[in-house]
Amino acid sequence: MNHKNILLMSHGHFEREFLDTIAEDITREFLFPVRIDEIHTDLNEFYDPTRRQYDGNRLLKYMDSVSRPETLKTIGVFTVDLFISILTYIFGQAIFRGRTRIASVFRLKNEQYGMVEDQFLLLDRFRKLVIHELGHTFGLVHCSVPSCVMMSSTCVEDIDQKKKFLRQMQNGN
Ligand SMILES: [Zn+2]
Repeated sequence: MNHKNILLMSHGHFEREFLDTIAEDITREFLFPVRIDEIHTDLNEFYDPTRRQYDGNRLLKYMDSVSRPETLKTIGVFTVDLFISILTYIFGQAIFRGRTRIASVFRLKNEQYGMVEDQFLLLDRFRKLVIHELGHTFGLVHCSVPSCVMMSSTCVEDIDQKKKFLRQMQNGN
């Protein structure tokens, strides 16, 4: 029997229902059970005061270091603004060939772009981001089809064009 699981490690305030929905999406797409760990550690040491953002690469290293043996893949989810040195911001990030990814809801919120808050749209964007990031940990590369969840995204409009499934549905959904 396979006891391996995918660890969904949340940092910051997420509604439990939101995390449960993301976990269901992960299990549906990757067929592994998901364990949710809600972490409340202080992220101050990852904060860069000049950029006023959080260091994606250092967070990844930290997340990788707390992985457990039964963890097949880890996805760390955040509410804060993440960056890596060469980019203004990132939606998500990975260690090259690693089994750990991070993703944040921060830049997916409508409010960031002067639009009204939309929790349903936020969930829809985030589940696609998480499936995309985990897809990479299973060896999937970027796809050039705009509706494919493995298409690379630089803005929320790109994410909104995608479907939330790795497989094409028979009925075209
Ligand atoms: Zn990608």
